[in-house]
Amino acid sequence: MKNQQLFGLTLGELSELCVEYETKSFTSKQIATWMYKSRVFDISQMSNLPKFFRERLKADFPKLIQPYASVSISKDGTKKYLFEYSGNRRVETAVIPGTDRLTVCVSSQAGCRFGCRFCATGMNGFHGQLTAGEILNQIMAIDEHDKITNIVYMGMGEPLDNAEEVIKSIEILTAPWGCEMSASRITVSTIGIEDKLKDLIEKTRVNIAISLHSPFTEERALLMPIEKSRPIAELLKNISSLDLPRHRKFSFEYILFKGLNQSKAHAKKVGELALRYNARVNIIPFNPIPGLDLEAPSEKDVLAFQEDLTQRGVIATIRKSRGRDILAACGLLAGKK
Ligand code: SAH
Ligand code: SF4
Repeated sequence: MKNQQLFGLTLGELSELCVEYETKSFTSKQIATWMYKSRVFDISQMSNLPKFFRERLKADFPKLIQPYASVSISKDGTKKYLFEYSGNRRVETAVIPGTDRLTVCVSSQAGCRFGCRFCATGMNGFHGQLTAGEILNQIMAIDEHDKITNIVYMGMGEPLDNAEEVIKSIEILTAPWGCEMSASRITVSTIGIEDKLKDLIEKTRVNIAISLHSPFTEERALLMPIEKSRPIAELLKNISSLDLPRHRKFSFEYILFKGLNQSKAHAKKVGELALRYNARVNIIPFNPIPGLDLEAPSEKDVLAFQEDLTQRGVIATIRKSRGRDILAACGLLAGKK
């Protein structure tokens, strides 16, 4: 178990650890309770574990969670934390206060290898995967860890390019032996990797948001290179039999770019897809990145696009841009110092 982190192990993995340490198997549940429910990260304080076992564990796992390296606060109240994980893997985590909720936006990878044209994370390349523990660390090591109501996997990286660790982190968040959070308060955003998406759908009950951004394949391919090898139309057809929305919220994310994907023809096609697949549409006004030939839409255009979808019977919402001044808004996280 050397080189492994204790924090981020599932109950099954903790049980294996207990076998390795030749200690009673119910101890695994006690450790899970300390870490995930009581949020005690000092092994010496896990008072119901046998003393000799605590000492051995502490020697093998001296540090359970890693503190953040820095934090910035936006004028709109959004906070951005930076974590510096080993091997030069820097990740950022955003905390977004709302009227009746506090949402944390976690990163699933250090960087991203999909290179979408509009995204600062993609532009900065890929710097490594995160373990389930490193994903959860972003939730547990922040100042407001005990006030979080919602979790979105919308920070740096493509969650389904790290599906196993992402699914493990969701298991820990939602399991009765873990944080016992309702899956309905968790949303995973993805560009769509079919086999991994099926895994996520089968193994969890989280809400799913698919980054659509254009309903037309040539145009989507210009924005998102993945469209060339994995067309979204095919993915939607292939997962439609899973009857997604019956168990969870299913939505399309649609970044609106000025003069590019905001026409009536776009709204018509997006509307058709949304109705066919029973999805809501979450419109995200583009957060501009210097040097790119893509522009943000006007507020009027955003409202008009929403209205057009609403008229077609689609539930369409607008994502407010938060934390832009500290580069914490959608697509701006780059993990830079
Ligand atoms: N890799 C996943 C999740 C991380 S990105 C995905 O792409 O879905 C989370 C959301 O932010 C996605 O919908 C993404 O398209 C959007 N996004 C990326 N760059 C953006 C930008 N510059 N402005 C607005 N939204 C952006
Ligand atoms: Fe990666 Fe998502 Fe950014 Fe595309 S939008 S580069 S998939 S993080």
